Amino acid sequence: HHPERSTVWVGAPGQQVPIGPDTFTFIAGPCAVESAQQTLEAVEMARAAGAVMMRGGAYKPRTSPYAFQGLGVKGLEILASVREATGMPVVTEVVDARDVAVVAEHADMLQIGTRNMANFGLLQAVGQAGKPVLLKRGMTATIEEWLMAAEYIAQRGNLDVVLCERGIRTFEPATRNTLDISAVPIVQSKSHLPVIVDPSHAAGVKDLVVPLSRAAIAVGADGVIVDVHPHPEEALCDGPQALLGADLRSLAQAVRQLPPTV
Ligand code: PEP
Repeated sequence: HHPERSTVWVGAPGQQVPIGPDTFTFIAGPCAVESAQQTLEAVEMARAAGAVMMRGGAYKPRTSPYAFQGLGVKGLEILASVREATGMPVVTEVVDARDVAVVAEHADMLQIGTRNMANFGLLQAVGQAGKPVLLKRGMTATIEEWLMAAEYIAQRGNLDVVLCERGIRTFEPATRNTLDISAVPIVQSKSHLPVIVDPSHAAGVKDLVVPLSRAAIAVGADGVIVDVHPHPEEALCDGPQALLGADLRSLAQAVRQLPPTV
């Protein structure tokens, strides 16, 4: 029922960033918010490289319950202060329907992570939150199931949904997950929603982030979202996949080489 591909606008009036077919949106920031200084440094690195929007997790759904779980509301406050300092809209994950209101109060876009793609109560809650949603693909979800998850959000009146391919579980152990690059054009043929790629969480290692970002660009994705950390060796979460220095510059260069309209 929607022949034209959609553009989703993220951010407060005057700071709005488009995600959609007429642009390529470069989103970057720390995997987890660890401190105000670490977040600001990571986001400044991202901004210097050309990112227009920042990411950062305040609630971290980790495989191990003993791993760093995020700073919660304190992390949201840090994200809001870094947005104030940089002018960049923020996307951050919400993992519990009870936290949707407080996350929506501090962030410009609500992220549903891979582990919660089929948490229908949470999808319905973000569908009513009045903020755009970044819906990651469940790591064991088919494309059809992922699109139906988006319908749960849309059904509650929120059509500002951006899909994010972040890798799926296969038998191949060389990467954390297998980036299903073919999902991008398939989704674009079935849905009007923008689709971006997260090469950091797919690969789990930084050396693959730039090549996979180039693949995302080549296949026609509407943007990428990548992890950046000023001191990856000290990161509390996913340090091995965080970009810095030369890798970040090489990703920025690939993004800059895109024609104005892709
Ligand atoms: C994240 O983006 O911080 C994250 C945990 O991603 P995913 O849900 O794709 O693993």
